[in-house]
Amino acid sequence: MSQIQGWAAQQAGQPLVRSSFDLGPLGAEEVEVAVDYCGICHSDLSMIANEWGMSRFPFVPGHEVIGRVLALGEQAKGLRVGQRVGIGWTAGSCMHCRQCLSGHQNLCAELEATIGGHHGGFADKVRAHWAWTIPLPDGIDLPSAGPLLCGGITVLKPFLAYNIGPTARVGVVGIGGLGHMAVKFAKAWGCEVTAFTSTAAKADEARSFGAHHVVSSRDANAIQAIAGSLDLLLVTVNVSLDWGALLGTLAPRGRMHVVGAVLEPIPVPAFALIVTEREVSGSPTGSPVDIATLLDFATRHDVRPQVEMFPMDQVNAALKHLADGKARYRIVLEGAKG
Ligand SMILES: [Zn+2]
Ligand SMILES: [Zn+2]
Repeated sequence: MSQIQGWAAQQAGQPLVRSSFDLGPLGAEEVEVAVDYCGICHSDLSMIANEWGMSRFPFVPGHEVIGRVLALGEQAKGLRVGQRVGIGWTAGSCMHCRQCLSGHQNLCAELEATIGGHHGGFADKVRAHWAWTIPLPDGIDLPSAGPLLCGGITVLKPFLAYNIGPTARVGVVGIGGLGHMAVKFAKAWGCEVTAFTSTAAKADEARSFGAHHVVSSRDANAIQAIAGSLDLLLVTVNVSLDWGALLGTLAPRGRMHVVGAVLEPIPVPAFALIVTEREVSGSPTGSPVDIATLLDFATRHDVRPQVEMFPMDQVNAALKHLADGKARYRIVLEGAKG
């Protein structure tokens, strides 16, 4: 029970090799899950490369797990052996701090990331705290569901946090792994959706995901033409853009919300905020209840990430496919028993 077979990078930037780990006895509040599918997120690549300086090696990536409960710690609650569950970015939080007790467990200072000093889901088994082991609704499409657990909740969280209504006009910047899910969710939420992409070839696809309008993110005139119109502008890219022009698309009291890890600072002129009461914000994933809400919504409205499947033992080819920018639009690894 304590042995897992995982795909691990031995050092930063190295290919993953199949490795065996002894996790020891299952913790009282832990759950052990058999991995059927695991999505690949761009942050898995960043962590393999140790871009953020927080990776510990040997490193097993993977934090979009779809699986089944194999074993429950003696104090694990609300789950049963054999149940279908998902595990996302977070594998545990302290459950007693102010953030945890007020329902913002994803903001816990002691948050344990599924791939932060913890073996992730590119493996036959993975462990998490029972509260972060999220039951899957009946009827969910299991093979494509993994990316909902990190990318999906990342883009849906601002709709939940800021009470975005079905009459809102929503812009999505970047049609990639995150952005294509954002367009699908915004459409299903009832919003009028404008997709911003720098890739002309993605315009038709953005429309197929539900975008009502598509604007080139490199066409200043096209951006100017929709100035003052958007209630929420969701930024999913990780590169710098013409932020002044994009802020200008916000309606009075509109919000630019950043979920892409843009490394350069984003300039925000005070007047762009003051005169029209605009806001700029960001957020990481969501709480267990947020994730459960997302899974229910995605299942009811049949919002599925568009995925490409790779067998788990082709993980290095799958990682290269993502690193080369070829993923359309998320990749899911299929476990041996998937
Ligand atoms: Zn992720
Ligand atoms: Zn806490």
